[in-house]
Amino acid sequence: MKLSTLVKVVNQFKNLSDKILPYTFQDFLSRKLGKGTYLSQVEFHLVDHCNLNCAHCNHFTPLADENFCKIDDIISDFKKLKTIFDNIGKIFILGGEPLLHPELLNILEPLRTIYPKSEIIIITNGILLDKQNENFFKMLKKYNIAISMTHYPIKVDYEGWIKKLDEMGIKAYYFSLDRNKMRKQNLNLEGKSDKNKAFSMCIEKRCHFIRDGKLYICTPIPNICFLNKYFNVNFEVTKNDYIDLNKIKSASKINSMFKKPVNFCKYCNDKEIEFDTYKISKKEINEWVKS
Ligand code: SF4
Ligand code: SF4
Repeated sequence: MKLSTLVKVVNQFKNLSDKILPYTFQDFLSRKLGKGTYLSQVEFHLVDHCNLNCAHCNHFTPLADENFCKIDDIISDFKKLKTIFDNIGKIFILGGEPLLHPELLNILEPLRTIYPKSEIIIITNGILLDKQNENFFKMLKKYNIAISMTHYPIKVDYEGWIKKLDEMGIKAYYFSLDRNKMRKQNLNLEGKSDKNKAFSMCIEKRCHFIRDGKLYICTPIPNICFLNKYFNVNFEVTKNDYIDLNKIKSASKINSMFKKPVNFCKYCNDKEIEFDTYKISKKEINEWVKS
């Protein structure tokens, strides 16, 4: 049998088994076969606000009040996740700007203990790297935490930092190389988008997000509260838009739910993707919502 035919047969069997085997049995099978249950990636906010405030920020942080998330709450979320997913590919620590949190270092050891094999990455705009002390870099190295930087058109020596961190034995790389342009969110308040189309062209559907015991398919849903509050509008988040980790405890079920659009997709862009030149936010609604 040709390799391509074999792959096709295996995939067909997998699709069929996804449909006929109960999710809990699929989880059991994954564990029995030694693969374990797996989530590709998850991110969380350490703070909600940011020291850069870019227009079109897809976390809506220019609109967020100053908020330092509680380390204990985050650890509790990850303990819950661990009861469902034996392993997570990538864990992104972000915000807002995570380096603003005075207790950032306190999250590293518990996270590394809960998920020893995951790639754990701090996403930063780099502005505060200069202000970090020796212990910060020592802890990153000790717990094998990477630094990933988005290359904004601001006065930060990104190249220099990548080199410096590399010399210190800390993994460092660019999260996004070109931020001279920002993708427009182009949300619509009426909820008139074609959910399937918005979902199929969505680049955020793999950016799963955890907060307060809830797991979200993407970043905009848990953070839309900042925009709702600031502009006094109502992009509604329904029970269909998140997974309550106290109620759904099957990895296979969650991964299967993440393959389909959620109710909130009706607010997302289903037209051609548009970009805008990088600029600092003026906190105007049209930075996120299409008029
Ligand atoms: S640096 Fe990142 S988190 Fe901060 S406002 Fe810009 S896009 Fe948002
Ligand atoms: S709500 Fe749907 S379309 Fe919008 S960002 Fe999330 S997954 Fe993508």
